[in-house]
Amino acid sequence: MKLKIPLHYQILAALIFGALFGSIFKIPDNAFTLKRSLSNVPHKEKIEKYEQIALIYKQSEDSIAQEFLFKRGEQTAFIKKFRSFSNLEKKNLTLKVIKSGKTNNYHSLISVEKIPTIATEIKPIGTVFIRLLSFLAIPLVIVTLIVGAASIDDLKKLGRIGSKTFAFYIISTAIAITVGLVLANLIQPGKYVSAAAQESLAAEFELESAEKITQKLDVDIVDFFVQIVPQNPFKAIASGEMLQIVFFAVLFGTVLTFIDKKKSALLVSVLDAISDAMIKLVNIVMKLAPYGVFALIAATIADFGYEIIYTLFWYMFTVLAGLLLHTILVYSAIVKGFGKESPVKFFKGIRTAQAIAFSTSSSAATLPVTMDCVENKLSVPKKISSFVLPLGATINMDGTALYQGVAALFIAQVYGIDLSITQQLTIVLTATLASIGTAPVPGVGIIMLVMILQSIQLPAEGIALILGVDRILDMCRTITNISGDAAVCVAIAGSEKDK
Ligand code: ASP
Repeated sequence: MKLKIPLHYQILAALIFGALFGSIFKIPDNAFTLKRSLSNVPHKEKIEKYEQIALIYKQSEDSIAQEFLFKRGEQTAFIKKFRSFSNLEKKNLTLKVIKSGKTNNYHSLISVEKIPTIATEIKPIGTVFIRLLSFLAIPLVIVTLIVGAASIDDLKKLGRIGSKTFAFYIISTAIAITVGLVLANLIQPGKYVSAAAQESLAAEFELESAEKITQKLDVDIVDFFVQIVPQNPFKAIASGEMLQIVFFAVLFGTVLTFIDKKKSALLVSVLDAISDAMIKLVNIVMKLAPYGVFALIAATIADFGYEIIYTLFWYMFTVLAGLLLHTILVYSAIVKGFGKESPVKFFKGIRTAQAIAFSTSSSAATLPVTMDCVENKLSVPKKISSFVLPLGATINMDGTALYQGVAALFIAQVYGIDLSITQQLTIVLTATLASIGTAPVPGVGIIMLVMILQSIQLPAEGIALILGVDRILDMCRTITNISGDAAVCVAIAGSEKDK
């Protein structure tokens, strides 16, 4: 007899073994590959087991040398610092390596790289998995939405579902930020960061934070609504503009009910066939999930510096406690109160989607899985899930909003700035808007945070303090993001049952 382990257990095992594998094959933190030019020929060598390294920069013969010291474990900071020099400046750079008490100097430096391990080399398997899920998301949304809207054939009902969905999303997001702000006020995570730690975080993530600040995306509320209407639906599809796609698909599906039934039935059945094929494809891709998840987690853990967790422990604790509280309490209440569904069944039903959200950090890539879970495990009609979930993946990000609330307060606390109640209310408003405008892909939450910081006159460079743990928190907040979409979906389905 063949033993069949359910998929969610396989994915859970992949998460655990992936994390173990990643910590065994960690990228060494006191080694790197150095490329330099020897008599104009590029030459690569490995520098391993050093005790200390230093970069010495001398602009010209008679200028004073600047020295940047790095101990073992500060390899990421060293590589970032090295990359911050222009090619021209690198000519005046000397690398000093202290190993077993001896010092070696290197010149004509070209590049320094981390040394990959088997755990980071397998990452492409995970990337292929994310790409497969992402390419399924858009066609799946379009066809299911058109078919869904075409079968609702009642404009009033569509309007009612639409406004209820929107209201649920906005209210749950505002609650999420409030949970984050209350916890950050109670725990005061910023008080635990010493001035020395603040300085070293600021220096280490200076470059990265400057990059993120320039990527800042503004949310203009009027423009936001104007932009929902696509000028060219094919362009919207090609560039993955989810809201524009939803707008087009709902409109198109609705007008199908206005035309000759014979013609529309034909198209609907074709689209229905495409939708079935897409769902089949999701099931096939999910067979790869354990391998994809294993590779993604292994690579993330192998490349993650643990030291920073000590410095930012209370900040991480506050965000994680908030996410956990919100996910369990608020979603249980929504599911039970409006969806008349058991919270235990709900969380069991969506656990596969949660594991995929955690490993991909992307609500968009998780969307096909969330749809599958909600329809097949929680028996939500396709008509509702195909409308509520894509909309949610795009505009509803409770986890991101909660994290932004905590992060803003944390940064203010580290800088010793007291935020007034008005400023905290401004955070609730801007973070709600920001989470609507945040794209459902990895790492966008922190870019939107820049806008929130500026709205309350906090220095945007503050994001340097939290960048080091952003990846881990991104994985966790994405779980909350997709759980919120699923909870609202169950609530809408429950409230529409007898209508
Ligand atoms: N990664 C998140 C998502 O896709 C967005 C973010 O917070 O960066 O849901």
